[in-house]
Amino acid sequence: MNTRHSGIGMTSQRTRLRMIERLREQGIRDEAVLAAMFEVPRHLFVDEALASRAYDDVSLPINFNQTISRPYIVARMIEVLRAGKPLGRVLEIGTGCGYQAAVLAQVAKEVYTVERVQPLYERARRQLRDLKLRNVSVRHADGSIGLPELAPFDGIIMACAAPALSSALREQLAVGGRMALPVGTQEQQLYLVERDAGGFRESTLEPVKFVPLLMGKQ
Ligand code: SAH
Repeated sequence: MNTRHSGIGMTSQRTRLRMIERLREQGIRDEAVLAAMFEVPRHLFVDEALASRAYDDVSLPINFNQTISRPYIVARMIEVLRAGKPLGRVLEIGTGCGYQAAVLAQVAKEVYTVERVQPLYERARRQLRDLKLRNVSVRHADGSIGLPELAPFDGIIMACAAPALSSALREQLAVGGRMALPVGTQEQQLYLVERDAGGFRESTLEPVKFVPLLMGKQ
C-alpha cells in the first residue's frame, strides 16, 4: 500500500465519502460508478503540493499543459458509458495522469488507454502498476485514430476535445457500444454516440471544457 500523503487528512475515508456525496448531489446515480470513485485514491495521481485539493471538484494541473479532469466529469462520462450495464473492453484516449483509467478499471473488464506525451505516459503507467491494476494497458501513441488493432470496443472515452466528431473512431465501437467525448473548440459539448445494428445515434448531453486533442506523439 502506498502511504504517500497519509497523515494529512485526505486519504481518510471521510474525505472520499464527501466527494461521493457531492457527486450524488450533482446528479450521479450509478452506484457502480460511485463505488469505483470511492475506491481509487485520487490524491496519488496529482503532485504532492496539490494533494490537499485532490478531492475538490476542480481540474488540476498535471504538467505539460495538461489537467486531471474534475471528479464530476470523470464520473459522468463513465456513467454515460455504462448506461447501467457492465463494460467489457474500453478505450480511453488521453491517459493524462491515469486517474480516469484507474476508475474505469473498476467497472470494465479490460481498459486500453492512450497518451501522446511520453513523460505523462510513463508516470501513469508506473502509477497504475503500483496500484496493481492489471486490467489496464497504457500505450504511448497518437490516439486520434483510436486503436484499430484492438477494436471493437464496448466503450470509448475521449479525455480531450476534437473540433468535430470523428467517423474513424466510431467505427471502432462494437454493436451495442457507446462513446462519450467532448467536441468543439471554444464552446464544447459532451457527445454520446451509440451504435446499434441499424447504425449510429448521436446526442449532446451538456457543455464541458476539455484540453484539445493534439496530433502526433511527443
Ligand atoms: N484522463 C485524464 C485527463 C487527461 S487530460 C484524467 O484522468 O483526468 C487529456 C490528455 O489527453 C492529456 O494528457 C493530453 O496529452 C492527451 N492527448 C491529447 N491529444 C491526444 C492524442 N491525440 N492522443 C493521445 N492523447 C492525447
